[in-house]
Amino acid sequence: MPTIFKRIIDKEIPAQIVHEDELCLAFHDVAPQAPTHVLVIPKKELANLAAVSSEDQALLGHLLLIAKKVAEQLGLTNGYRTVINCGRDGGQSVDHLHIHVLGGRVLHWPPG
Ligand code: AMP
Repeated sequence: MPTIFKRIIDKEIPAQIVHEDELCLAFHDVAPQAPTHVLVIPKKELANLAAVSSEDQALLGHLLLIAKKVAEQLGLTNGYRTVINCGRDGGQSVDHLHIHVLGGRVLHWPPG
């Protein structure tokens, strides 16, 4: 059973895409937790950060660089937060690796 993100990669369901290249996709979160809330996901099917290996090193770097690029593209000049939820205790709800990019308001710490 493909995840919802795999279905977005395959263009089976729509998303508000802000960046796409051969390795990844970035799109607006359907339930934004900040004025700007984008998800950066690899096209490679990796369940979460716990599932990556050293062979994914370059891909992980690419995802972070795209997170930065998207934040700039969307005008997050006052800063932003990147989050990777991993597993049940980490609050992960979609089993496809993703980086949240949140901004457009002051974000508090610690998270809940
Ligand atoms: P996480 O809880 O870290 O696994 O984050 C999953 C995120 O995916 C949540 O913020 C959801 O709002 C978001 N999400 C779920 N389905 C979709 C969708 N079809 N399009 C965009 N974002 C989605």
